[in-house]
Amino acid sequence: MSDTASKETFSFQTEVGQLLDIVAGSLYSNREIFLRELVSNASDACDKLRYEALTDASLLEGGQEFAISIEIDAKAKTLTVSDNGIGMNHQDLLDTLGTIAKSGTSNFLNALDDENKGDLGLIGQFGVGFYSAFMVAENVSVTTRKAGEKEAWLWASDGKGQFTIEPTTRDGNGTSVTLSLKKDAKEFLEDARVKHIIRTYSDHISFPVLLGEDTLNSASAIWTRPAKDITSEQYTEFYRHSGHAYDEPWLTMHNRVEGLLSYTNLLFVPSMAPFDLYEPERKSHVKLYVNRVFITDDTQGLLPPYLRFLRGVVDSEDLSLNVSREMLQSDPKLSKLKTGLTKRVLGELKKKATKAPEDYAAFWTNFGAVLKEGLVEEIALREKILEICRFKSTHNDDLTSLAEYVERIKEGQDAIYYIVGEDASKIARSPHLEGFKAKGVEVLLLSDSVDEFWLQHITEFEGKSFKSITRGSDDLDKIDDADKDDKKDEPEAKELDKLIELIKAELGDAIKDVRPSKRLTDSPVCLIADDGDMDVTLERMLKRAGQLQHSTPRVLELNPTHQIILKLAERASIDDNAQDALLKDAAHLLLDQARISEGEAPSDALEFSRRLTAVMSIAL
Ligand code: ADP
Ligand code: MG
Repeated sequence: MSDTASKETFSFQTEVGQLLDIVAGSLYSNREIFLRELVSNASDACDKLRYEALTDASLLEGGQEFAISIEIDAKAKTLTVSDNGIGMNHQDLLDTLGTIAKSGTSNFLNALDDENKGDLGLIGQFGVGFYSAFMVAENVSVTTRKAGEKEAWLWASDGKGQFTIEPTTRDGNGTSVTLSLKKDAKEFLEDARVKHIIRTYSDHISFPVLLGEDTLNSASAIWTRPAKDITSEQYTEFYRHSGHAYDEPWLTMHNRVEGLLSYTNLLFVPSMAPFDLYEPERKSHVKLYVNRVFITDDTQGLLPPYLRFLRGVVDSEDLSLNVSREMLQSDPKLSKLKTGLTKRVLGELKKKATKAPEDYAAFWTNFGAVLKEGLVEEIALREKILEICRFKSTHNDDLTSLAEYVERIKEGQDAIYYIVGEDASKIARSPHLEGFKAKGVEVLLLSDSVDEFWLQHITEFEGKSFKSITRGSDDLDKIDDADKDDKKDEPEAKELDKLIELIKAELGDAIKDVRPSKRLTDSPVCLIADDGDMDVTLERMLKRAGQLQHSTPRVLELNPTHQIILKLAERASIDDNAQDALLKDAAHLLLDQARISEGEAPSDALEFSRRLTAVMSIAL
């Protein structure tokens, strides 16, 4: 672009427009957080340049010291936050200050559904990065020059749908963000107010934040300071800055490890599940520093994907500074680091799980499904992971560990029983559970999609095998039963056999077999997968994923003590029943009923309705 290039005008992306409408009209009382956001961006910009300069020293003009400075012009009613970081060129400005930034902002909009449109508390919860400046400013201008480039640019906007970019001049690389404060935001022109805000929210920033001659923050990397000198508020603010998070940390782990490979970790477990937890990339968000120099926040190989909920930093002086990010990722030291960190995190989680089970339950609800991926992927640590897994069960409403389950196991019970389904509340009401409940045999209720997968890999715990109650024979006879005597009516074996034969003949290929069941008490029928066949939920999941075309026929189990079955068996035993239309219809209806209780549709809705009508008319 030539020197005479003039001002260009652009429209904000629709989402940014929406966001700005909300932000600008905000009466949110915590507006001061705009300063935290601007200082945070300035700090990120310094980190980025320091990293780039590792491989291109010419980017640092005359060995500059990184700093963030705040200038107040009371007369002009402006507040400026400047940094000498990486800066932005024309394209960067278009990419970042006109569209929605990847983090923070899009969360915020997603959370703002119609119901809570006016709930500006959300601004505080999510932070909205750069755009939060419009809470206090009627105009924002950004003067910036990218390190290593000559042209400087002036970006300006009143936050009403459009922004402009024009060439300008700037001494040195970096960015200055100038806010023309709104009439009701003059408080941010007072030194004392600004100092207080910086100490509250930005003390942890590792570059000096200057107001005139004064340095307002501690200006040293927080993780290098002794834990006893750091307040929990400071930890929280650092967590929010480094993790682009806006909640409180649920767990803070700050350790220094000395040895062949020395490092410091300051890791956090969030108290709210981050929005991108289940994105297919399964990205880590922990920042890697080498000797206090920021390297990347997207290190593959620093932590396993099943710990991707962690936030914070890891800093090691023993990794090489002078290699590319890609080479660093294949450094064997990095995998040592990973092992050390993983064990520490699992150890800390175990402590929490034993000492504060209720608190741990909150963690488990957020991240249990993610952690369980480790059962499949991390063979060496399976035992350790299994130890800290918690499950819903039929025992009570609390979560249980496997060890606790095994302690409660009944005489004669040699399996850990479970049922898997997609909906926790539905499986808790499944007919398959009836017989187990009646006998007081505990069943784990598993409803995360990862459950089917780890159960393919882990077959036992403390010598007890895992067994699905929707597959195979029910074993319930073997288990000691306190109230054995209350025997219910059962049909004559001969009568039941006849009924079974008749149902089999009528249903044909639709089922694999028909058998009497012990697992039912209240429901007349249920469907199970045969021993050795695939569990029903897994089959359903694979079919949905397109990895499986056909369903395996299942076994229809009949409750021999149920009134319907008793009556049908009686009827079946009468000679010459083969042409009995009612029995034929009943066979199909029983299958459909079992399907419906699994959350499936009847095999043929019209036939179902015809049969139901026919059978009801006879009954009436
Ligand atoms: P986030 O910091 O979460 O990415 P922001 O809305 O705070 O979101 O900032 C958006 C983007 O604008 C940043 O990611 C960065 O690329 C760019 N940016 C903002 N401030 C600066 C700055 N002072 N120097 C360089 N780039 C900046
Ligand atoms: Mg930001």
